[in-house]
Parts: sequence; structure tokens; C-alpha cells
Amino acid sequence: MSAIKGASVVIVGGGVTGLSAGWWLAREGVDVLVIEKGMIGWEASGRNGGGCSHHHSPLFLEEQRLWPKMDELLGYPTEFAGSRIRLASSEHQMALYGRALSNAARQGFKSEILDTRQIREFVPLAGDNMVGGYFYHFGGHANPHRTLQAYAWAMQDHGGRLMQHCAVTGFRSVGGKVTGVETERGLIACDHLVIAAGPHTGRLSAMLGHEVPMASARCEMVVTEPLPLMPYGGVDGNGLYGRQTLRGNLAYGGGPHEWLDIAGNAAPAKPTTPLMGHIGRRLAELLPKAAHARIIRSWAGVIENTPDGRPVIDRLDTQSNVVVATLSSVGFGLSPASGHAIRDLVMDGACSFADISSFRLARFAQLEPDWRELQGWQALAAEEALAA
Ligand SMILES: Cc1cc2nc3c(=O)[nH]c(=O)nc-3n(C[C@H](O)[C@H](O)[C@H](O)COP(=O)(O)OP(=O)(O)OC[C@H]3O[C@@H](n4cnc5c(N)ncnc54)[C@H](O)[C@@H]3O)c2cc1C
Repeated sequence: MSAIKGASVVIVGGGVTGLSAGWWLAREGVDVLVIEKGMIGWEASGRNGGGCSHHHSPLFLEEQRLWPKMDELLGYPTEFAGSRIRLASSEHQMALYGRALSNAARQGFKSEILDTRQIREFVPLAGDNMVGGYFYHFGGHANPHRTLQAYAWAMQDHGGRLMQHCAVTGFRSVGGKVTGVETERGLIACDHLVIAAGPHTGRLSAMLGHEVPMASARCEMVVTEPLPLMPYGGVDGNGLYGRQTLRGNLAYGGGPHEWLDIAGNAAPAKPTTPLMGHIGRRLAELLPKAAHARIIRSWAGVIENTPDGRPVIDRLDTQSNVVVATLSSVGFGLSPASGHAIRDLVMDGACSFADISSFRLARFAQLEPDWRELQGWQALAAEEALAA
């Protein structure tokens, strides 16, 4: 791999965003190279809840169109399962989760309110403590590890290349275009550059004079021992997201974000007892008949957040051959669509299937320098975050 001198499109970041974009480009015969500082999926893309239900996003229709076809399109399994059940333990949660109904209905998707009999039937691990629930005939979940690997293999099947364990350290520009990417293994020439480096997108884009404003947060997931399979694996609520795996484990996350300052190539975040306990307690409330199940694994991940919670997918106005893409904490589910949008921006300069003007970087032009403090997104220990 050290012999690689260049590629038509170089993508920085081997998470779902970069790999999906790489796959979209490679399947059209574009010479694409994804450069990853560690292993693919080592950051949020391999540590997330696998949810694919982003009805608030302009990419929602494309997300929903593509997920049921992804196994076939990629040629590898993602374990996608459609639809979602959300249970509420209070009237407040019921009202909150109910907002999805009208939003999704406007876009042509059906949802239903579940009565207690239906909850018992569809969610055998639930108890009588939920005030109600919803069945969304949209969204779903997939296995993050399988999906990530599927993108990488599918991209490589189409001739795309992948370079792991190689950090990008800088960029070379000539006449308003980036012409090369500086890496730990030397300079790699490119015609186009995509920066899809998760929480590091801000730092890397700042090297080109356009800092994408971002704050990073650590959050956690727990996994229980396997339990009998429920009719629907996509059950969440009570402030949690997650799924039942095909083996029966409950894999759930949620709770407060612990805001971090991430510097350079920091070591992966580690889980902590307070947040794990918090998720375990909420999970036992959500699914009381699983309260006896032992937690057998847990991990932490760092999510990327923009000030308004919306993705940035945009071409830089000063270097027109550069696309920056960061998904602001909803990047797994949106990945089939975000890769398509990035492909469109690289090849055609505009997204062909959705209005993504709300993802423009220019919306942050007037951002206050102390926006993190104003939002209360400052570094806090897990205990402080729980108390806040
Ligand atoms: C616990 C948890 C639960 C989540 N649950 C969900 C969910 O249910 N549904 C959902 O849609 N989203 C969820 N998310 C968010 C989702 O995982 C992310 O939005 C998504 O994975 C972002 O993908 P990405 O490829 O943009 O970034 P990342 O996954 O962060 O990948 C970026 C990659 O860039 C690499 N990189 C960075 N700097 C460099 C460099 N200098 N050189 C080379 N490579 C570099 C990194 O090593 C990394 O692999 C969750 C996240 C977490 C942590």
C-alpha cells in the first residue's frame, strides 16, 4: 500500500460516511481511495446503536428507500430489519415520541398507537409500567459492524482502495484546489478530496481555512446476555435507543452526553460505571422482564455534534474540489443516503435527490466564538453530566 501515489478521489475517514461515499463512487468506476488513521469503524461507526429512523432529516426518504435494498446492493448482509416500536414510560415521553407520527405522515409513512394488549404481544419483555407506545412503519435498525464491513468489501469489489493505519496530517493546495493529501506514509495526489473524519472533521477542515464547528461527546452502550427473541428487534424508548441482536442480546445506549475535548489521535473513549448503571436501570424499566439479564459487554463511543445538530455536507467555496461531511450523531442510519449525497457533490456539484441546503457550512458564518459554552457543551465528568 505504501506505493500508492494518488487517486482521483481521496476520502479521509473509514467510518460509515467515508466508506459509503467510497462505495457510491467506486460502483461507478471512479478511482477512489479511503484513508483511515486506525481500523475502519474503530470510532462511532463501529460503536453505535444501529438505528435507521431519521424522519427529521432531508435525507430521510433516501434513507428509507435504500435500507431495504442494501444487502442486495452491497452484496453482503447488514442485518437490516424494518419498522420500529417505541415505548413511553410517561405522558411526557408519549407526547415527545408522538411528534414522529405527524412528521413521518407528512412524508408518506404510517404509524400506529399501540394499546397495552399489543405491547404485550409485540414486546414480550415489556411490563405493565409503560403508559403507551407507537409502531412506526418506517425506520429500523441494522448491525453496525456488518454494515461497515459490507461497505468496505463492496467498495473494494468495485476497485476502490482502502489504506488503514495511516493518518492524514495535512493538505497541499494549488490555485484554489487541493492537489494532494499529506499522510504518515507520504504525499498522495488527488483530483478531489472528501473529509469525512467524524469528530476530527473540524480540525482537518480548519487546515483548509474552513473550520466545521463541532463538539465531541462520549456516550455509552451496554449489551446483555442473550434473551428469547422478540417478534420485533427494534424496540426502544424510555430515553434509550437500541435493538435486540439476532442472537437475542439487548444492545442499548442513551443518557447524558459527556462533552469532551478531543485532541489529535486520542485513544478510544472508555465506558464508565455511572453511565453504564444509568443505561441498565432505564433498560430494566423499559423491558422489566429482562431486568434479571446480566450486562456482558459495554463500550463508549465519541459522537460528533454540530451547533444545530444538523449534518454538514458541502463543497468548500474556496477549494471547490473539497467536500466536507459530518453527520452530527445520526450518521449510521443516514449512511446509505449520505454516501449518495457526497457522491453527487463530488461528481456533479449538487445533490440530485434531496434539498440539502440546510447542510451548508455557511450557516455557521455568524456563530458566536463561545458557542460551546453558550450551549453548555463543555467537558464534564460522567457523574456531573448525570447530575446536570
Ligand atoms: C454509542 C453511540 C450510539 C449511536 N447510535 C446511533 C444510531 O443508533 N443511529 C445513528 O444513525 N447514529 C448513531 N450514532 C452516531 C453514528 O455512529 C455516527 O454519526 C456515525 O458513525 C458517524 O460516521 P462517520 O463515518 O461520519 O464518522 P466516524 O465513525 O467517527 O469515522 C470517522 C473516521 O475518520 C477517521 N479519522 C479521523 N481523523 C483522521 C485522520 N487525520 N486521518 C485518517 N483518518 C482519520 C477516524 O479514525 C474514524 O474511523 C451513535 C454513536 C455512538 C457513539
